[in-house]
Amino acid sequence: MSCIFCQIISGEIPGEILHQDDEVIAFRDINPRAPIHILIVPRKHLAALSDLTEEELPILGKMAGIAKKLAEGEGISERGYRIVVNCGPEGGQLVPHLHMHLLGGRQLSDEMG
Ligand code: 5GP
Ligand code: ZN
Repeated sequence: MSCIFCQIISGEIPGEILHQDDEVIAFRDINPRAPIHILIVPRKHLAALSDLTEEELPILGKMAGIAKKLAEGEGISERGYRIVVNCGPEGGQLVPHLHMHLLGGRQLSDEMG
């Protein structure tokens, strides 16, 4: 199995896991771009947002809800934070397993790319 996130999900390689349930896990990004940088990832290998079927789309709402709770737990809810889903080569997606970034703990740039 080559997908790095599938390997973290299966426990083959370690991750600092902050949340897990039957559908989603969350762990800290290995190369944090902000003081808080967490990845929220479906357990099922879904490659990218552009590949999701209508039936699969609700997972994004669940992932956003987990991001909201994690932000509360990390104490950044009131200061604010950003969630990001990169999709495909021009979207800057490097890991081909759907994921949501939760970024916070500093003033984020107003650039959107
Ligand atoms: P993308 O550019 O695909 O949206 O983001 C992929 C993210 O995964 C990057 O922020 C990168 O630092 C993170 N990442 C890549 N490999 C690993 C890993 O082995 N462990 C963890 N925790 N994060 C990783
Ligand atoms: Zn995967």
